[in-house]
Amino acid sequence: MLIVQKYGGSSVGTLERIRACAQRCLESQRAGHDLVVVVSAMAGETNRLIDLANRLRALGRGDEVTRGKGPYVAVDGAGDPVHERELDQLVSTGENVSAALLAMAIHDLGGAAISLVGHQIGMITDRTYTNARIKELRGDRIRSEVAAGKIVVCAGFQGLDAEGNITTLGRGGSDTSAVALAAAIDADVCEIYTDVDGVYTTDPRIEPRARKIREITCEEMLELASLGAKVLQIRSVAFAMKYGVAVHVRSSLNHNEGTWIVSEYRSMEAPLVVGVALDRNEAKVTLARVPDVPGVAAMIFNRLADAGIVVDMIIQNASRDGTTDLTFTVPENDLARSVAELRSLHYLGSGGSGSGEVEILSDPEICKISIVGVGMRSHSGVAARAFQILADEGINIQMVSTSEIKVSVVVHEKYGELALRALHAAFGLDQEPASAAS
Ligand code: ASP
Ligand code: MG
Repeated sequence: MLIVQKYGGSSVGTLERIRACAQRCLESQRAGHDLVVVVSAMAGETNRLIDLANRLRALGRGDEVTRGKGPYVAVDGAGDPVHERELDQLVSTGENVSAALLAMAIHDLGGAAISLVGHQIGMITDRTYTNARIKELRGDRIRSEVAAGKIVVCAGFQGLDAEGNITTLGRGGSDTSAVALAAAIDADVCEIYTDVDGVYTTDPRIEPRARKIREITCEEMLELASLGAKVLQIRSVAFAMKYGVAVHVRSSLNHNEGTWIVSEYRSMEAPLVVGVALDRNEAKVTLARVPDVPGVAAMIFNRLADAGIVVDMIIQNASRDGTTDLTFTVPENDLARSVAELRSLHYLGSGGSGSGEVEILSDPEICKISIVGVGMRSHSGVAARAFQILADEGINIQMVSTSEIKVSVVVHEKYGELALRALHAAFGLDQEPASAAS
């Protein structure tokens, strides 16, 4: 088999861990596989580099800067093309270091390896510094090195634009590098090694009976992004879906099977519900007595869109007396801004057509719970079952939205965890799937 293995920052976090990865690579090679490896920077390195840039900027301004991690945009260099270009030059170096070290470690253990960085593997992206998109990947160099019997160790996270400037793929982007590479060289599997066992049916901190999922489709994984967010960059899943790459996320600390992210279920029937996610970061806005005439919804949501506010669920009531109620959710952090934007809409402020005042109500104390499964496509009544489970717990449902493979409900924040546990148990997620157990 041709295997792409990706080792995350914690897996290459120390020299000892790098040596352990080298051992693992050689084991796979001795088992008869061809191997292409993608690495992240050593744990903490990308943050350290971003921090250097932040502190340099602060020095220039005479500010104090607290040691930060997180996105590049922690500095006001965001949006400044010169600064962002140099930031990518800077942060891409972390991966160069771990790639070279891993190749050396493989040599030390008696294997043959070569490390390659973005321009050597022909990873071409657009020019969106710090969050570039892959446009093209030429796999020839990699293929010829593999054919020569070498383990090819590629620096993840980086690419280059059409003019040869170094770009990076956004935080956690090495996962996307690995999946893209697997697609380009037509690998049989892309193994993502991390410090957790896989993807779980729900957040184990809320429900200790959460189980590791054996197999999940890309489509489901995209809907359950929050459950996978700590495991892999979700953009890599969209890539895997587009190119049909089988992804296996697993721990680099043991040899257990992890979670397979696949295009279609292979070994078992699609489960009705594969996971339950809780999102606490939503807030609800209700516009009461909005004039029920064409163009009002467009005006409201255009205003929010122009302000860069991402609206999630939307419901509109049946109209009575020529007015209607419109309720929607926005990220909790954007609630105050959303209300301010709506207040500044003259149309709403003046009571629209003049038939009484439009009232703007907001409620941050809500959360959204979603159950997801492609099995819903072929089974009716899943939403009804979910509603009954919540009713049995005395939980009131404030909003509902459904898609072919998802049911989401909004409930009061204080019932979020209870609702999650009730749904998790009632849909049997704390038990091994029957076909897998036999
Ligand atoms: N080193 C980069 C980061 O920390 C990319 C990665 O680890 O995937 O975001
Ligand atoms: Mg990662």
